[in-house]
Amino acid sequence: MNHSTDFGSIRSKVSPEEWQARLDLAACYRLVDLFGMTDLTYNHITARIPGSPDHLLINLYGLLYKEITASSLVKIDVEGSIVWKPDTDYGINVSGYVIHGAIHKARPEVQCVIHTHTRAGIAVSAMTCGLLPLSQTSVRFHGHIGYHDYEGPAVDLDERERLVRDLGPHDAMIMCNHGLLTCGATIQQAFNTMYQLELSCRSQVDTMAARTEMTMPGENVLAHTAHMYQPGTRRPYGVLEWPAMLRLLEAEEKTSGFPSYKQ
Ligand SMILES: [Zn+2]
Repeated sequence: MNHSTDFGSIRSKVSPEEWQARLDLAACYRLVDLFGMTDLTYNHITARIPGSPDHLLINLYGLLYKEITASSLVKIDVEGSIVWKPDTDYGINVSGYVIHGAIHKARPEVQCVIHTHTRAGIAVSAMTCGLLPLSQTSVRFHGHIGYHDYEGPAVDLDERERLVRDLGPHDAMIMCNHGLLTCGATIQQAFNTMYQLELSCRSQVDTMAARTEMTMPGENVLAHTAHMYQPGTRRPYGVLEWPAMLRLLEAEEKTSGFPSYKQ
């Protein structure tokens, strides 16, 4: 079996737009890892290829997020069929893609979908109260997040419809008894939303574990503030932050021992 993770660069074989999408998506995988949001080799982050909206990029199933490089990403169509993959015995996780594929098909403006199984995300996903507006960070999601009931691991065509319905127009969804999902108009924005949602869940778990009375802003403040924090109300998210995130990766790569995400 060829499970080498030494992938040659395909930069000269793809369009500049595809290469940029590969760089940004590989960086996003590394950042999700860096901020503690991975689950062994599971989960996916998918991104559309600009100029080729029916083609998406996804990780090889079996690689650590730390190992994912621009050239290792697999090109698939929206149904999950492989269009191109590196010369390797690793493939893609077709059933894992079902969640992503449902959203990419139904929401053409969505460029990127991120799904995680984090400790805090799973914890909040199991709470009947859902995500509470306990902090400025979590207020962003007040009235702007979907909930999807757990239906078991097999995601059939019926469930795809319910996933889309439950996400609605939002960029974030709590998958009950399962984990978190965010999407966005850019890879950068989807990452920013996932970072904020994860931080909101971690804060809620800490607050509830302290077993003290909780205070929350009033409904008039919540609705106004939630609107103010929507991407686009004042600025898109991820634009200002992304170059700093890439500098963080550059510095990390000097000592990580893993190949550069830019390969
Ligand atoms: Zn999952």
